Amino acid sequence: MALLPIVKYPDDILESPTAKVTEITDEILQLLSDMYDTMIENDGIGIAAPQVNQSLRIALVELDEETGLFEMINPEIIEKEGSSIDVEGCLSFPDVYGTVERAEYIVVRFTDRFGDEYEVEADGYLARAFQHELEHLDGQLFTDKIIDHIDPEALDAYMEEHEE
Ligand SMILES: [Zn+2]
Repeated sequence: MALLPIVKYPDDILESPTAKVTEITDEILQLLSDMYDTMIENDGIGIAAPQVNQSLRIALVELDEETGLFEMINPEIIEKEGSSIDVEGCLSFPDVYGTVERAEYIVVRFTDRFGDEYEVEADGYLARAFQHELEHLDGQLFTDKIIDHIDPEALDAYMEEHEE
């Protein structure tokens, strides 16, 4: 297990578009594993390569056990529908939380670590996590989209209030 340091804002790499992965090398496989360990260690539900100082089109999402882990190489959102507003945070912005408008439903296409291509449909918070992580790969940050900032101390209360 290898933990990588998380790049915190501000840092140029967080605002730079990433390069496509052209070959799934041993280094890429190791990076995927290290990103997973780092995400779990930091209680994240998603992580993008620029957040561990690698300007590559790689992102991971693991919302919960039910949806499982998505290890995505060169992911693209190919469909978007609807809209929803909910709270987000980011490993690169400790203690910043805020509401962001996202598509309610998406289809994401990506290559996995074995080189197989997938198209995955997602809605709700899973769709939100994909959109947040994929924006990192284009050098975009959620803080530019925050509608209302949420005080970290008020986060639990906010979550309870908005639980469906
Ligand atoms: Zn983030």
